[in-house]
Amino acid sequence: MYFEKLNSLYSEKCVYCGMCLEHCPTYAVTKNESESPRGRISLISALNNGDLEVNIRSLTHINNCVLCLSCQKTCPANVNFQNIMETFRNKNFKNLSHKTKISLFINKVHMILKITFHKIKLL
Ligand code: SF4
Ligand code: SF4
Repeated sequence: MYFEKLNSLYSEKCVYCGMCLEHCPTYAVTKNESESPRGRISLISALNNGDLEVNIRSLTHINNCVLCLSCQKTCPANVNFQNIMETFRNKNFKNLSHKTKISLFINKVHMILKITFHKIKLL
């Protein structure tokens, strides 16, 4: 039921146009598709379908999202990114080991520092 709901949230809406990419701070500092809104939607889709292993790498890309929702504000297809992310995180992050949670936290701090330094450079 949860996966059906999640599927309908993203697969019916995201058209993978990429218009959100330039507005995403994590994509701006990494130029990595997996750190973009479109990439995260693809990752969640793949994890959901069992095409991708749930591991620290895939979870890091999802957890690194700072939920600024710049992507949602500029999305022409009105993808509800906040709902997709919160639903996935609520379902999948609760039961992680402490070790995994700490690793995700450290990776997120690195990402926030990268974004901060990137913004300072642009001043
Ligand atoms: S989330 Fe929206 S803007 Fe981004 S790729 Fe999908 S449809 Fe395009
Ligand atoms: S909400 Fe996440 S994916 Fe969307 S623009 Fe912000 S950091 Fe990027």
